[in-house]
Amino acid sequence: MVIATEWVTGHYSGIDKEYKHHLNDSADKLAGEFQLHQFPHCTIGKPITSPDYKIRLLHDSSVLTSKVSTILAASIHDPPLVAYILRKAGWSKFTFDKVRWDGHERAFKRIPRYNQHSVTKLIHGLVNTKRQNHMYYNASPFSPICQAEEEMLEHVFTCPHLSALQHHQAGLTNLFKALQTANTPQSIIDALQYGFTQWWRAPTNTDVRPLTAGSLWGPDAVLTSAFIEQFREIGWFHMCLGCVNTKWASAGNQYGTHPCTPDADLHWASILVAVLWRFSKSLWQYWNEVVHGATVEEQEQRQIASVREKMTSFYNSYAENPDMVLPRHQHLFTHCTLTERLGASYDNMSAWLRSVEQAILVLQHQEAANLEVSQLIFPSNQPETVTIYIPVYSTRFLSSASAQTSASPRAFSLC
Ligand SMILES: [Zn+2]
Repeated sequence: MVIATEWVTGHYSGIDKEYKHHLNDSADKLAGEFQLHQFPHCTIGKPITSPDYKIRLLHDSSVLTSKVSTILAASIHDPPLVAYILRKAGWSKFTFDKVRWDGHERAFKRIPRYNQHSVTKLIHGLVNTKRQNHMYYNASPFSPICQAEEEMLEHVFTCPHLSALQHHQAGLTNLFKALQTANTPQSIIDALQYGFTQWWRAPTNTDVRPLTAGSLWGPDAVLTSAFIEQFREIGWFHMCLGCVNTKWASAGNQYGTHPCTPDADLHWASILVAVLWRFSKSLWQYWNEVVHGATVEEQEQRQIASVREKMTSFYNSYAENPDMVLPRHQHLFTHCTLTERLGASYDNMSAWLRSVEQAILVLQHQEAANLEVSQLIFPSNQPETVTIYIPVYSTRFLSSASAQTSASPRAFSLC
């Protein structure tokens, strides 16, 4: 084979266009596309210093001439933020880098400022769940809908109860409608729907075979890879929080439904993240409506019912053990009957509850002081355990250890 080189006129527009001119046009087009996908070229640039030159900021072997505050903030805050996410999600850095963070960032910047706070709380799992209430206030940790499992954020998204599932399906329908509007290939929508179905069926199972597994067609192969990495490495739960695999957008690009613009992939990824956040937020809002009521009237009724329940619990405890408060505080129970108390206003009932809680605390402090004195007088006596009856809910205000305490001699015990 003989290879010869020849100079060819660039951008030739004459009438006798030859094969070499077509080749030149193709090469020019390829070079242009290649150039569009290049990262900015970083050099150890040293711009000409101005006469009032005093200081020069160097970052990554280059002089900073713009976006100083952004680059400084990223340098300071990114490493601890990444470490926090890795620790909380249980990811390696390798898995972390599989998340489409630039899509995440763009979706977040599009949210109105007044909404960013609530979205941040949700996507970092900082919303108040019953599990937290159980840890801090000893309240019931169980799901208010199914009453079968602890209420964590993941359970809010996967609760198997029929009413929760119906709402999840309705949310999913809205999610897919939004994705269809954004020119999402049907194969990706099918994969997402299949993923959600499998996740809801067995939230801890990561061994799920995607619908496109085994297909040798290029776009299907990329979609299979995106599904598997999302399901097995990043986690489907984290996808609900906006941590989507980079390959979802690559698959969309391969199917050819994205517009031919340089940032089409990024734009689509940001839409995917945004609709997932909207979906997750709707699930969380539904959960709150179940717990606190959907309307203001419903919320008021639930608060009143909760206060009445606590009052009844206190009165029942007092009937079993009048020594649950000191004699000077017993008028709280003897002055009015339970029926009279329950008919009072919300503010009145709340004030009474606060008084009873304070009275229980006073007794607890007196018990502790008496115990201290008894140890001084009878140091050789071994303390024995006695039970103090306290309404279950009131342990929120006492330490869990106070349900059982020690007292010696027996004169200081309550029952
Ligand atoms: Zn549940």
